[in-house]
Amino acid sequence: MKPPDHPLRPSTLCIHAGTYLDKPTGGACSPIFTSTACAFPNPANENIYPRYFNTPNQQVIARKLAALEKGKAAVVFSSGMAAISTLLLAHLKPGDHAIFQNDLYGGTMQFITRELTRLGVEVSWGANAADFAAAVRRETRLIYIESPSNPLLHCVDLEAVAALGQRHSVLTVIDNTFATPINQNPLTWGLDAVIHSATKYLNGHSDVNAGVVVASAEIVRRVTASAVDFGGMLDAHACSQLERGLKTLALRVQRHNENALALASYLASHPAVARVNHPGLSTHPDHTLAARQMRGFGGMLSFELRQPDQVDRLLSRLRIVMPALSLGGVESLVCVPSRTSHRTLTPAERQRAGISDGLVRVSVGIEDEQDLQEDFHQALATV
Ligand code: PLP
Repeated sequence: MKPPDHPLRPSTLCIHAGTYLDKPTGGACSPIFTSTACAFPNPANENIYPRYFNTPNQQVIARKLAALEKGKAAVVFSSGMAAISTLLLAHLKPGDHAIFQNDLYGGTMQFITRELTRLGVEVSWGANAADFAAAVRRETRLIYIESPSNPLLHCVDLEAVAALGQRHSVLTVIDNTFATPINQNPLTWGLDAVIHSATKYLNGHSDVNAGVVVASAEIVRRVTASAVDFGGMLDAHACSQLERGLKTLALRVQRHNENALALASYLASHPAVARVNHPGLSTHPDHTLAARQMRGFGGMLSFELRQPDQVDRLLSRLRIVMPALSLGGVESLVCVPSRTSHRTLTPAERQRAGISDGLVRVSVGIEDEQDLQEDFHQALATV
């Protein structure tokens, strides 16, 4: 088939970008290449090996994600944390300084406070571009953000962070897991590298662990060189499953966006709820910023009850929405971050991040919106 002569749009990219051309059968799907021993020498004179991140199935994911995030290159990992830790370790050495957003995924915060600082990397924290600007020093090498953030849905001004990084020749990195490339493309705002936990929306069915880094060819080359040493590669079967999940990403995210905004509006009007965090609500402090840099507001929200001691009761009364760790799947999940995603932080670290013990996080799935609302309605009636 002749390739189209115009840039393709997101739903089309989800389905077609990167697909391995199956010449023997003309099949519509990428075949699964399971070999861990590949001929050498070969016509391309290339060492193909799964831990070198260069097998056909790994390349399919890399091409699809690079297209969706509008990057030049990408590399797929066995988890989001493998992507995060490898990118950070590929760019930081003892004596370097890095700046991080206050409220990041708990595992990322733990990696920073337990591993990076042990290696002699100095870290500063901040809430927004102004804080990051004030923290920049001569040794600063990297600024790392999450927007919207987990679990408070804070948004950071991507353009301002990118400009700051460019002014000081500092690498700017974003965890774009919550937004997905359907809602937000940080590279087009000038950031240098995008990370995803592909375990979440990219796969979307709560049955694969994976991560990706998307950036320029030079950054991806550097990250991949470290990745080969650290070894966090994804095998062919998981790549194939992730490829299948990615084909429906645009469709799923559209429904996640609609359901989350509807549920956030409902919860915000409920007398038992004290506060709802969702960037699509006009009451959210970052709503204007989110509306500028996002095409949709995502499927995540969090809220606090007026009586925080009623949280367990609420969770036990839900009939459709499942109390569970993780997020981004087709099914709606609910958790208490202080006991799950952010449980390993000290109370002081949680307080700095603004995560109270009564905060409830909802990953709004793609069920019928009315069923989700009714589930919360009957559960909230008991608290
Ligand atoms: N980034 C965010 C925003 C997350 O929520 C998570 C996990 O929950 C991760 C990264 C880590 O991803 P993984 O569990 O795939 O290592």
